[in-house]
Amino acid sequence: MSEQLERLGKLPLRDNLRGISPYGAPQIDVPVLLNVNENTHGVPVDVQEAITKAVSEAAVSLNRYPDREFTELRTALAEYLGHNLVADQIWAANGSNEVLQQILQAFGGPGRSALGFPPTYSMYPLLASGTDTSYIAGTREADYALSAESAAQQVAELAPNIVFLCSPNNPTGTGLGLDVVEAVYEAGEASQTIVIVDEAYHEFAHQGTPSALTLLPGRERLIVSRTMSKAFALAGARIGYMAAAPEVTDALRLVRLPYHLSAITQATALAALRHRTALMADVEDIKVQRDRIVSELTRMGLTPAASDSNYVFFGGLEDSHTVWQGLLDAGVLVRDVGIAGHLRVTAGTEAETTAFLVKLEELLNSTPSSN
Ligand code: PMP
Repeated sequence: MSEQLERLGKLPLRDNLRGISPYGAPQIDVPVLLNVNENTHGVPVDVQEAITKAVSEAAVSLNRYPDREFTELRTALAEYLGHNLVADQIWAANGSNEVLQQILQAFGGPGRSALGFPPTYSMYPLLASGTDTSYIAGTREADYALSAESAAQQVAELAPNIVFLCSPNNPTGTGLGLDVVEAVYEAGEASQTIVIVDEAYHEFAHQGTPSALTLLPGRERLIVSRTMSKAFALAGARIGYMAAAPEVTDALRLVRLPYHLSAITQATALAALRHRTALMADVEDIKVQRDRIVSELTRMGLTPAASDSNYVFFGGLEDSHTVWQGLLDAGVLVRDVGIAGHLRVTAGTEAETTAFLVKLEELLNSTPSSN
């Protein structure tokens, strides 16, 4: 990397891109991949077939540009989300990363700032630097919780143009109460702060967990972003979306590239939305594996964080890097998020989860843990 950085340094790069590394978890080919919070259950066969058929139908007209407004997809996403949302309130792009980038392009930029609360999704600062938005790292409590009072106070003091609230938070997996969203929104009144609630993993939340979508009426600076990469098992298709006031979608139209959502992408998303029964059954199964991981890690004397996502963040490891390497040597790839004593693991299929738990316990018995 350093040789690469040196070569890059010779180019007339923008100052805020100097010295930074591109985002990317290691892509290592091992049997059990539990490192990037993908949907481990694969694409159900009926969804695969529906996508194949829809894409082959779309192929007939690929000489034409796609529907720039992707109206059918926005309508289907509004129907999926419920909460009386309508197509005018929905926007989509190539992954929720692109949605977030467009929000920064429209509401951030030179002389403007975005606030996040680390440890949180590591793309937020990179999206900020890519759009020349200054990134402010807020603070959490020692146990990584974020209270309404503390979050609101930081927003009031720092007056950012944009604030990222990740719920459930990546990497910790824990959801935020809606009181935090409400308090942050109110605290951002004076600075007209755009509040993004990143609900990429919302479908994995425990039953009854309310979504920030319920707060949208009357809050035109609130944006709730979602993705089809996780619950819909479509990380490879690149489809993310958001719901907000119609004027927010109009703002994003100012910065999106023309025809940014290909006809293939639109057809894929629509087919998956129409055939979501099997996908939602897999989500339930993943939640069972997630809860199994939490209880098994607790039994092993480790300290997993409460999880409303498809992954578990856990501490209590004496030497997390050695454990990470030991798991990798056994063909199980998990994520080292750079927090000492902690690792993050995606909930796998039953067999993958078993492989992870068995190997981890073996390693703990040979490597002393801090507990
Ligand atoms: N938000 C969070 C919290 C994530 O963890 C991710 C992906 N890991 C994303 C957004 C972006 O996902 P995508 O671009 O695939 O929709």
